[in-house]
Formats: sequence, structure tokens, C-alpha cells
Amino acid sequence: ADKSNGYLADSFINIPEIKFTKLFINGEFVDAISGKRFETIDPRNGEVIARVAEGDTEDVDLAVKAARQAFDHGPWPRMPGHARGRLMMKFADLVEQHAEEAAALDTMDAGKLYSIGKLLDIPVGAASLRYYAGAADKIHGETLKMSRELHGYTLVEPVGVVGHIIPWNFPTNMFFMKTAPALAAGCTMVVKPAEQTPLSALFYAYLSKLAGIPDGVLNVVTGFGATAGAAIASHMDIDKVSFTGSTEVGRLVMQAAATSNLKHVSLELGGKSPVIVFDDADPDGEVCVAGSRVFVQEGIYDEVVNKLVEKAKNWTVGDPFDPNVKQGPQVDKKQFERVLSYIEQGKRDGASLLFGGKQHGKNGYYIQPTIFIDVEDHMVVAQEEIFGPVMSLMKFKTIEEAIERANSTKYGLAAGIVTKNIDTANTVSRSIRAGVVWINCYFAFDNDCPYGGYKLSGFGRDLGMEALYKYTQTKSVVTPIYNSPW
Ligand code: NAD
Repeated sequence: ADKSNGYLADSFINIPEIKFTKLFINGEFVDAISGKRFETIDPRNGEVIARVAEGDTEDVDLAVKAARQAFDHGPWPRMPGHARGRLMMKFADLVEQHAEEAAALDTMDAGKLYSIGKLLDIPVGAASLRYYAGAADKIHGETLKMSRELHGYTLVEPVGVVGHIIPWNFPTNMFFMKTAPALAAGCTMVVKPAEQTPLSALFYAYLSKLAGIPDGVLNVVTGFGATAGAAIASHMDIDKVSFTGSTEVGRLVMQAAATSNLKHVSLELGGKSPVIVFDDADPDGEVCVAGSRVFVQEGIYDEVVNKLVEKAKNWTVGDPFDPNVKQGPQVDKKQFERVLSYIEQGKRDGASLLFGGKQHGKNGYYIQPTIFIDVEDHMVVAQEEIFGPVMSLMKFKTIEEAIERANSTKYGLAAGIVTKNIDTANTVSRSIRAGVVWINCYFAFDNDCPYGGYKLSGFGRDLGMEALYKYTQTKSVVTPIYNSPW
């Protein structure tokens, strides 16, 4: 029974048994060589959910060996694209069929809302597999009409063995947005899920085996960043590392790639995404889009502030298994404490705390929805990524000012614009230095829509066809044509 805030999770759904807690290497679940395990914690109450194998350098070595063998000698990169696509479709069906179990694992492990997981995260993960499965037999190069008496063409080949390092905030979507394009391209891989959320990745490893993905193609090594993660980044036999996480660790990954084998690198890093609400926005409709840095034009500012407080008052925080709850707990104690310390910092810096600011309830890592007003651009709450339910509101006058201030961050992940004026929307979207701009919506993702950052938010794109080509490399083949009449 769960004790957070008086709820009984079991009264909402049947909590699944945790079946997979070992590393998945070469198609088998195995203990870490050291025999070590680490605890994964339920953020609803701080209790241990399971003890999971703690992979380290030697385990990463084994997983890379399996992936190397599967790449160099196995069927996966050699089979026709449609055959890979077919197995990926089967994998997608299995993921969808197990949506409830997978969603429950993410809810227990990450505190994510169960209803959203079941209806969105898990089906979207399956849809990623299908999107790239459909592309698996359409990866081809170009014919080159070269100068002189030469004929050439390009082969688009899989990059090889890939290391995927992923964070805790979207355990399922990150898993599939990384693995699906790499699988379609014909790569083999080692996935390291975040230490806070290892459970669903192991479950998907099992489903990949059921689907018939050959052994060694998809390996999962659970463990910590400084050990298992670092071993991936510096491995001499990994051809590409695809990382999502903090900017700080992204730098380490790139350094390790540079000083090891110059493996390809793509980085999806932190953000401090602005939302700009213009005077002509409908405060009842669109302004509830969540954003950590919200710029509101002066004519509508007071009204927006009032509506947000109203919204925050009716916002239900609690057990993420409860279908009526809108916000679950922070992922772990560390993040919980980090968010609360940012709130304290905001108060010290002189921002006015309009709503929330404290722990919600007494158990678990729940934080009240928190709103700061009178935030100035230089304040820590306006500059640092908080990664919690904390919103900072700022007032602006002109469109030029909004653009300037929205861009005054080291990050460039995403941005939102709320306006009915098409000229305003077009002008601002072209002026914002961010990898994605949402107009009159927020957080709208699709497998067909590339996602990734500008500036310190990283480089390379997940999702879309662009992501597929991150996992390929181009080979040019040239042959002479003797006595060509052309
Ligand atoms: P983090 O960078 O600490 O961890 C992310 C992953 O990297 C984990 O799997 C971790 O084990 C691993 N890692 C840690 N140290 C490592 C090292 N030295 N070498 C190799 N791997 C290492 O990030 P976090 O705090 O767990 O996750 C939240 C961060 O992720 C936030 O900053 C957030 O903005 C970012 N994020 C970015 C995106 C995006 O799309 N750009 C998406 C989700 C999260």
C-alpha cells in the first residue's frame, strides 16, 4: 500500500510485479559482474521499489562486445530494410499491448502521471518505432554525375555501435526516440537509462526479444552516470554516442568522445524556454500553457496573473496513479531538494512568491505549484533550469523587448508564443534562437517533428527524418567511365 498523501495506489490500478532488474546483454538478463545492485525509489513515498543490477565499465564492455559482434557479423545491418521494419512493427505492437504495465513502471519509478503514460507516452513510444520502421527500407544515397570521366554514388550506411544515454524525465519516450531511428538505420546499441528510472527500459528490452530483434542488437546496461555512462562516452569501440541530459554532463560526454575515439556525438541538453504572451491572447484559453519563464505583455499582465493563481488553486497534486491528479512528485529526493532550494533562492533574490513554494503534503517528493512574479532577467530563477513546478512571470512592453529578453539565456531548447496576430507570431518565431517554437500551443511533440536545441541546449535532432541520419554515415563510391561520349 502506498502512503503518499493518504492515497492507496492499489485502489487505482494493479501495481505490476517488477520482473526485470538485471542487465540485458546479448539477449539475456544477467547480473552485473561485480554482483552489485542499486535501489530504485518510489518518489510517492521514498520507498524502495526494486534493487537493480549496477552495471559498470566491465559490463559496458560486455554489452559493446555483443553489439559489435551483432553489427560486424550479425543479420541486423545486413537484412533488407523492410525486414528490420517488420520486426520493429512487431516490437511496437508488443509495447502497445503492454501499455498499462509500462505506464505503471514509469509512474512508480519517475512519478509520471499514469493516465498520461498509458494514453500518450507509451503509445507515442510505439508510434516512434512505427515511424522509423516505415523509413527502414527508404534509406538510400544519391547518384552523382561527376566532372571528368567519373561516375559516383553514395551509400548511406549505419554508423555502427551506438551508445544512448538517457535522463529520467521521459523514460519511455527517450528510450524510443533514441533506439527507433538507430534500429531502422541498422545500428546495434547499448542503452543506459537514468539511474532514477531504469525499470521501463529493461521491460522494453524484454519486449524487443519477444519481437524477434536479434540478440546483441539492443542491450541495456543500468547503472550510474559517472561509471556506466562515462564508460560509454569514452569507449573505444562505440561509434556514436547520443546523449540527453544536463549541459554539464553533455560537456563531459563530448570531452570523453574527443579524447577516446572521436566517436560521433549528439547532445540534447538543458533549457530555459520562454513563453511570450501578447496582449491579444485569450487569457481563458491559451495562457495555461506551462512554461518556466513566462513573459506577459503589460496590457494583459494582471489578468494573466489572476487566472494563473486561480488555476494553481485548483491544480491537484498527488498520487500520479490517481486519474484526477494533474501533478505527481519530483523524481527523487535530490531533485525535490534542488527545486525547493531554487525557490528559496528566488525569494532571496527579491522575486515575489505569489503562490505555493513549499512541499505539498508530508510524504513523498511533492512540491506545490509555484508562481513567482516581479522576476528580473538576471535572477537565478530566470536563468537556471529548475526542472520543477515553478513558473516565473515577467512583464514586457514591446515585441522587440520580448524577443531580446526571451533570447537572453544561454539555452535555446524551445519557446512558446501566444498571440492571435500572424505577423507577431511570424516575427517572433524567426527571431527566437531555439530549436522548436510552439505558437498557441506548448509541448506539442510528434515523431515527424525534429526536436533539439540551439546554443547550450546542444546539437543534433531527435525525432523526424533528421534523427535517422544521425545514425548513418555516407560513403562515396567512385568509378571511372572510359571513353564516355558525355
Ligand atoms: P544528467 O545529465 O545528470 O543525467 C542524464 C544521463 O546522463 C543519466 O543517464 C546519467 O546517468 C548520465 N550521466 C551522468 N553523468 C555522466 C557522465 N559523467 N558520463 C556519462 N553519462 C553520465 O541529467 P539529469 O539531471 O538526470 O536529467 C535532467 C537534465 O536533462 C536536465 O538538465 C534537462 O534539461 C535535460 N534534458 C534535456 C532534454 C532535451 O531534449 N534536450 C530532455 C530531457 C532532459
